[in-house]
Amino acid sequence: MYLSVVIPCMNEEASIPGLVSRLTQAIAPWKDRAEIILVDDGSTDATWKAIETAQAGCAQLVGIKLSANRGHQIALTAGLEVAQGERIFMLDADLQDPPELLVDMMFMMDRGFDVVYGRRSERQGETMFKKATAHLFYRFLNAMSDVPIPQDTGDFRLVNRRSLDAVLAMPEKARFIRGMFAWAGFKQVGIEYIRAPRALGETKYPFRAMMRFAIDAMTAFSTKPLKLATRLSFVSLFMAALMAVYVIYSLVVYQTAPGWASVVLAVSFFSGAQLLTLGILGEYIGRLYVEAKDRPLYFVSDDTRDMVPDVKRLRA
Ligand code: UDP
Ligand code: MG
Repeated sequence: MYLSVVIPCMNEEASIPGLVSRLTQAIAPWKDRAEIILVDDGSTDATWKAIETAQAGCAQLVGIKLSANRGHQIALTAGLEVAQGERIFMLDADLQDPPELLVDMMFMMDRGFDVVYGRRSERQGETMFKKATAHLFYRFLNAMSDVPIPQDTGDFRLVNRRSLDAVLAMPEKARFIRGMFAWAGFKQVGIEYIRAPRALGETKYPFRAMMRFAIDAMTAFSTKPLKLATRLSFVSLFMAALMAVYVIYSLVVYQTAPGWASVVLAVSFFSGAQLLTLGILGEYIGRLYVEAKDRPLYFVSDDTRDMVPDVKRLRA
């Protein structure tokens, strides 16, 4: 198998027929060596029926149905685990990402890139609010994250087998797939495209889901929030020291009310001390978190002995 296309679908009954016909055209050059994997993420409409119907008319199509809704990133993971291709193409069911870009992505991959992702130069037909929050999200995420994550980039991408195996060798449960590819490393490049409006149906990312996604992404790729307390404690202890000077000075010079000095000093010192101990806990929790994710320590991308190890073996 040369090419696998993986598409998560939740309540996309309206999109599937159009999606399958446009996609089969886009992958026509690799027709006999390609598979299309549609993952039904616990839809409550007739998505599964639509997948079965499409499958009946298209032998290269594989349908997978999850027992319940597990979310976009998990559904995508399910499809990626099934994919057998040497190259794996991911896109959404709603045709916001043009399947025709595959040709360009293939071209870049032929030139040695392991991951070719689509970068949205423009988003059509989306609310100002979605654009603004998405813009902020990608910038803030990058500021927080421990690895640079490409801006304005979704999961729309072509990846090769070794980079996919690297991502699948990361057993973490909170899966922020575009970040995982960034973390895995290997040679990556972006291709700009204009993101079309959703053709049919409505977005599966209402505000609440977007918030959850953003928090998942942030916590999955950064332990910086846990270190906040340490930083605050430095500020706080420094202020406590300044306060001490001021308090003692006032006590001597202005003969302030009895009890005032000791209360102010105690409050400022102990709040600093509490933040510091919280920060220490944060450091340990951060380390536990990294250990719990249990990612491989590294992936080998080249070896002069010509024996690049199979990434799957690292999992054992
Ligand atoms: N999706 C999914 N499970 C979910 C939410 C979304 O499989 O719980 C799929 C959805 O069917 C679509 C893709 O993920 O193929 C992206 O969702 P959507 O287009 O609604 O997001 P948006 O483009 O509005 O950010
Ligand atoms: Mg969409």
